[in-house]
Amino acid sequence: TPAATHVHTLLASYPDFPQPGILFQDLNPVFANAAAFRSIIDELSDQHFGQFDAVAGIEARGFLLAAAVGYAANVPVLAVRKGGKLPGTVLAEEYDLEYGSARLELEIGQLEPGTRVLVVDDVLATGGTIAATARLIERAGYRLSGVGVVLELTGLEGRSRLGDSAVHAIISI
Ligand code: IMP
Repeated sequence: TPAATHVHTLLASYPDFPQPGILFQDLNPVFANAAAFRSIIDELSDQHFGQFDAVAGIEARGFLLAAAVGYAANVPVLAVRKGGKLPGTVLAEEYDLEYGSARLELEIGQLEPGTRVLVVDDVLATGGTIAATARLIERAGYRLSGVGVVLELTGLEGRSRLGDSAVHAIISI
C-alpha cells in the first residue's frame, strides 16, 4: 500500500534503546512527514478493514493516530490512559511488562453499549498493551471491531495474545 511504502522508507531502527538488547523502532519520522502521516491515517480509517463506530487510542502515540482516524472517519474518539490520570468511574487493567507492570484505564459510559470500537496504536510488540485495551473495551460494554497498528513486530507473536480479533498492520517486520 502507499502507507507501507512510506513506513518502510522512513522507519528508523535504534539498537540497544532504551536498554541493551532492544531494537527500538522509531516511527516519529513517519509522523513528521505529512504525506506519510496522511497515508497511514487513510489506511487505518478505511472501513473496508472492518466496520467501526468509534476509535480508541492508547497513550501516548496511539492518541496521535486515534485523533486523526476519528476525524477522517467522522467517529468519536476514546482515550485509553495510563494509570491514575482519569477522574470519575474508571475501569483498570494491569499487565506485565518485561520489567514490572503497567496499568491502563478507561472511563465508563462515554458511548452506547455495543458500539464497535477500533483500537489503534503505533506498534504491536508482545501484544500485552493491546490485549489489556481490548479487555477494557469489552468490560465497558463495547465491542472490539478490530485493531489497527502502523508496525507489527512479528517475532514477538503479539497477534497470538489477541484471540480472534482482526488485526491490520500497515507493515510487519
Ligand atoms: P506490547 O505491549 O509489547 O505489544 O508493546 C506495545 C507498546 O509498546 C506500544 O504502545 C508501543 O508504543 C510500545 N513499543 C514497543 N516496542 C516498540 C518499539 O520498538 N518502538 C516504539 N514503541 C514500541
